[in-house]
Amino acid sequence: MLSELKTRLRSESAEEYLHRLFERIEKSPLNAFTTLARESALKEARSFDQNPGSGRLAGVPIAIKECISTRGIETNCSSRILRGYIPPYDAHVIERLKAEGAIIMGKTNMDEFAMGTSTETSCFGPTKNPWDHARVPGGSSGGSAACVAGGEAPAALGSDTGGSVRCPASFCGIVGLKPTYGLVSRYGLVAYANSLEQIGPLTHTVEDTALLMEVISGHDGRDSTSAEGEHHDYLSGLKDGVAGMKIGIPREYFGEGVDQDVEKAVWNAVHTLEGLGATWQAVSLPHTRYALAAYYVVAMSEASSNLARFDGLRYGSRQGEDKDWHTTFSEIRAKGFGREVKRRILLGTYALSAGYYGRYYLKALKVRTLIKQDFQRAFQDVDILASPTMPIPAFKIGERINDPLSLYMADVFTVPINLAGVPAISLPCGFAGRLPIGLQLMGPHFGEAALLRAAQAFEAATPFHDAKPEVV
Ligand code: GLN
Repeated sequence: MLSELKTRLRSESAEEYLHRLFERIEKSPLNAFTTLARESALKEARSFDQNPGSGRLAGVPIAIKECISTRGIETNCSSRILRGYIPPYDAHVIERLKAEGAIIMGKTNMDEFAMGTSTETSCFGPTKNPWDHARVPGGSSGGSAACVAGGEAPAALGSDTGGSVRCPASFCGIVGLKPTYGLVSRYGLVAYANSLEQIGPLTHTVEDTALLMEVISGHDGRDSTSAEGEHHDYLSGLKDGVAGMKIGIPREYFGEGVDQDVEKAVWNAVHTLEGLGATWQAVSLPHTRYALAAYYVVAMSEASSNLARFDGLRYGSRQGEDKDWHTTFSEIRAKGFGREVKRRILLGTYALSAGYYGRYYLKALKVRTLIKQDFQRAFQDVDILASPTMPIPAFKIGERINDPLSLYMADVFTVPINLAGVPAISLPCGFAGRLPIGLQLMGPHFGEAALLRAAQAFEAATPFHDAKPEVV
């Protein structure tokens, strides 16, 4: 897709193409974008038309999740507290995209500070699922997934702390990858839970994800958790197929709570891969049932600390009259943060407080180690694992937002990956009625090449990625 677009842009005008996208977005009912970088993007497209350059993404517009810093373009994490904040610098991934000639077209809607599974906690209101406007696009990178699926951007970046790239990819019927922890620099990503999160691509095809991964991965000294190693090659072996590949099916990821259509589609996918020369066997990830609890304790604890900087002094809008420090600080945060963010700051602060630290946070860290070991053991026997990405297809807007636990439960198959730090990809594998279903493939640390190869083989053998929602 992106390579065809690149070729097309050389004969057509990139400016006209971008102009058409902006027109579509302005009329769109999806609410996928928060800010459009109209002027700067059209200017870059004009200069591309005059002098195309040789970048790997030359002339290609890319949409960026709200929480990734973009120099000169508002970055507010879909939170009232950051409205009007314009970063003076680009995130590492943005520098990489620009160095390859990509055009940053705008910022996409998300759950406030990436806390959510539905994009309903945004201060800009919910984004709609392009397949059914009454439904959520998934979250927290819902805007990034919806704009790609809805034909408003050829590709996007999201971030994944506990599933936020894979969940919306699954609900919107596109490809999304959460990279190995440390593979993509988090420099310039506004932190929610920094020990869990990675930036990842959302695209129409596996090949596009592989290309974007080649561009955004690699060492960056400004992120202390960035892994060594510069050039990663995901494209050259992409079409080598799955002959001889061993796929593990984790027992704990099937059965109770999984929608019948989802389960059927995922098994069909496993059999398709089998038909292409892979073999499968059942495996066990025995600590899976503790993953959600451990994830939410770790994520909320880190969030409570990371969000302390939004105090109206360092970051955050400070309006009105100043009173004593405590009052001013409390007022700014009371007005600036939404309900879900407040809930998580409270719970995270509680879990880290002196009397409860050992009982909650430390315990969650121990569970995290056990979950990581589950994956390490499984990957001694198999090359990759396969499961549903989400246990259910996209749910209705408003259906779960007042019941946070039911929202948290939807993350059951995505959060273990972030606790373990391993990579996983979601790709379309079928439909429940008109709603897309996502297949999750999981790999060992730095096993992206094998994941992408399996995903590519599946995509080439199936029609699901070609299906498109009716664009209004
Ligand atoms: N739904 C999860 C949460 O709310 C994951 C979010 C994410 O990956 N950013 O924490």
